[in-house]
Amino acid sequence: MAIVMPDAATSFSFAPDAIEMPIGHHIGGAFVPARSEIPINRPSDNVVVPGCPLANIDVVDRAVQAAKLALRRSDWGRGQPRARTLALQRWADLIEDDATFLGQLESVPSTRPIAQIKNGDIAISAEQIRFFAEMADKEGSLLAPTRNDQMGWVASEPYGVVGAITPWNFPISMAAWKLAPALAAGNAVVLKPSEMTPFSAIRMAELSVKAGIPEGLVNIVQGDGATTGNALTGHPEIAKLSFTGSTEAGQAIMGNIARTGIKPMTLELGGKSPQIVFADADLEKTAQAIATSILANSGQACVAGSRVVVAAELAESLVSKVQTLLMKIKPGPTWDGETTYGPIISEKQLTRVDDLVQASIVAGATVLCGGGRLDRPGCFYKPTILTDVSDQSPAVVQEVFGPVLTVQTFLDEEEALQLAAHPTYGLAAGVFTRDLSRAMRVIKALEAGTVWVNRYGRSRDHILPTGGYKSSGIGKDLGREAYHANRRLKSVLIDL
Ligand code: NAD
Repeated sequence: MAIVMPDAATSFSFAPDAIEMPIGHHIGGAFVPARSEIPINRPSDNVVVPGCPLANIDVVDRAVQAAKLALRRSDWGRGQPRARTLALQRWADLIEDDATFLGQLESVPSTRPIAQIKNGDIAISAEQIRFFAEMADKEGSLLAPTRNDQMGWVASEPYGVVGAITPWNFPISMAAWKLAPALAAGNAVVLKPSEMTPFSAIRMAELSVKAGIPEGLVNIVQGDGATTGNALTGHPEIAKLSFTGSTEAGQAIMGNIARTGIKPMTLELGGKSPQIVFADADLEKTAQAIATSILANSGQACVAGSRVVVAAELAESLVSKVQTLLMKIKPGPTWDGETTYGPIISEKQLTRVDDLVQASIVAGATVLCGGGRLDRPGCFYKPTILTDVSDQSPAVVQEVFGPVLTVQTFLDEEEALQLAAHPTYGLAAGVFTRDLSRAMRVIKALEAGTVWVNRYGRSRDHILPTGGYKSSGIGKDLGREAYHANRRLKSVLIDL
């Protein structure tokens, strides 16, 4: 009898209640169980389960002290850099080997379908960890050109204990973006994941210990922004902070840091990114890129290309193709291996998405498709296209963080650039044209930290950093820049 292999996607399915969630912190190399104080509403089925403890200032301080002790006791920041490379590579291998369990811990409370976590988030995060692992023994101090009777150099050193705070939308990826460069650069880390998706970070920390990263180098404290986040950003012994989340929280963090001391920050914040489509664009490819970008994580991606700005003559044919593609979703719970379209993170966020759509309709928008919740259990919203929107329309101005595309049309390049510009955000932008000269002009004119041409979305070229202009952030994740952001510079001059 022939062996029938199970379909790869379907075989990822699992029962969410069968998975025991690790409710607690990870401090000094060990799991620290703690009482759930913030319940989690599973967005796939609106079932409330125990979830997140609330680390107060004492728990945060314990984690910081554990990190300091680990740096003192181990050779992590001072020893042979290659040792860091090897340990981080082992960690990446273990994360890949653990993809099933790690993916399950991630998908139950989150919006990420299990197949996308296993094939995408985990595989890519492991690559990114390896990218930073390779930097540990390749980037160092720089000798300065000085007089012959002097010797000077710019010494590059780790900070010590780095603090990190991550959002709920891509929990494993965001944790990897923060942990990998900080560790590769010789630091210890105290990471606070989102209170809505606390579990996968605990498992990543456990795997770091298994990989031989010294105990106490990776600490996870759980809790919300007001209590745990504040305690972390204001802790005097956190030497550097890296944050990904909303612009509002970024502003609050800047305020808290200004009140409690001075420390460098990397802030990866919100966006409202345009996709500019010129009349000569490849229609099929462009429609596919636009649909994929707004369906990714059901629109809950910082770089979601949520504003289509299209040449008037192409608008109808482009929008009709995008609309067809938006209908090809398979909505379902995140623990179903066949799901391609997950939920919105919470009822509160779904209401916010719908409120912005309804307010835009009041302001004159036409709903081409979608415009309401999907008729099924859980927090699901229909992929939505809004036309007839002005540049004052709520869905054009505000970060919706849901599957909502607005469409605006232009007559010439100047108008396209005017529509594409956003008063505050500058995270990413897409440009679709076959005209190289025009592409180059538009790239230069756009105020955005990333510009994609004839594609939309990150590739697996982890050398390209990501980060925003204007209110979309300060500093970069990924690339060499993220490694260097986790080192500080000391100028040394010796009279010989
Ligand atoms: P959020 O700002 O509500 O929360 C993010 C994290 O910050 C959570 O861990 C939260 O507990 C914590 N936090 C909130 N207030 C805080 C405070 N005052 N002090 C310290 N910590 C605080 O964001 P979210 O809803 O989890 O994520 C969605 C947002 O993240 C969107 O705006 C999205 O654009 C942004 N984001 C940006 C990027 C990027 O690379 N630029 C990537 C992913 C998400």
